[in-house]
Amino acid sequence: MNDDQLLRYSRHILLPEIGIQGQEALLKSHVLVVGAGGLGSPAAIYLAASGVGKLTICDDDTVDLTNLQRQIAHSTDRIGTPKTFSAKKTLAGINPEVNVIALHQRMDETTLLQLVADIDVVVDASDNFLTRYAINRVCTLSKKPLVSGAAIRFEGQVAVFDLRHTHSPCYQCLFPADGEDQDMRCAVMGVFAPLTGVIGSVQAVETLKILLDIGQTLNGRLLLLDGLSMEWRSIKLDKDPCCRVCGAEDPRETCENSRAMP
Ligand SMILES: [Zn+2]
Repeated sequence: MNDDQLLRYSRHILLPEIGIQGQEALLKSHVLVVGAGGLGSPAAIYLAASGVGKLTICDDDTVDLTNLQRQIAHSTDRIGTPKTFSAKKTLAGINPEVNVIALHQRMDETTLLQLVADIDVVVDASDNFLTRYAINRVCTLSKKPLVSGAAIRFEGQVAVFDLRHTHSPCYQCLFPADGEDQDMRCAVMGVFAPLTGVIGSVQAVETLKILLDIGQTLNGRLLLLDGLSMEWRSIKLDKDPCCRVCGAEDPRETCENSRAMP
């Protein structure tokens, strides 16, 4: 680390849990953020400011006036420009050292699968179930940690699926439906602006903890926030042996067997 880096990251380096070694680990890491909207904006901003060396951000959308109420990586002068380009500009302003790769495209499973090979943590900040399920399948196949977040109305949720471990539940264990008929896009629902900031920031916290290997992540837990009462709840998640995505690795735990149980 050079002198500027020692100064820029000094408040991290002062933390015994991080130190110079931890900060160097962050500088060498590569995080994929899927979605540059309400959750992706704060998540990417904190990851870039924290010194994550390489950030790949994908989103196929362009900045719209209705986004600016909560999608803090964008600004009024960027309306009509791709969200990934806008986010890249914001992140470069905060920390020019971070290598930001902006992918202005919708991710399908094949593209994601190629992309995650080089990724340390995947942040799901997308706004639709098809993408969420695709990200989960790819992370399960590739054994990558997945930090999932969602915010709608006054409610938010965060979960970590650390799919490096075969005993970890996956997103599909939690939401087993296909999602084809329940695609409540945040794009057409009301969202309380700072709630996306809270949830996206928690996603950044969990991502950094995984990269640094510190603390206890939300792996196997679903954290729920009711913004109106400001109550947080944490629910334990179990791996579903019948899960179509992560289950049935152990033939003794097949769906048929567990369903046959009384
Ligand atoms: Zn599963």
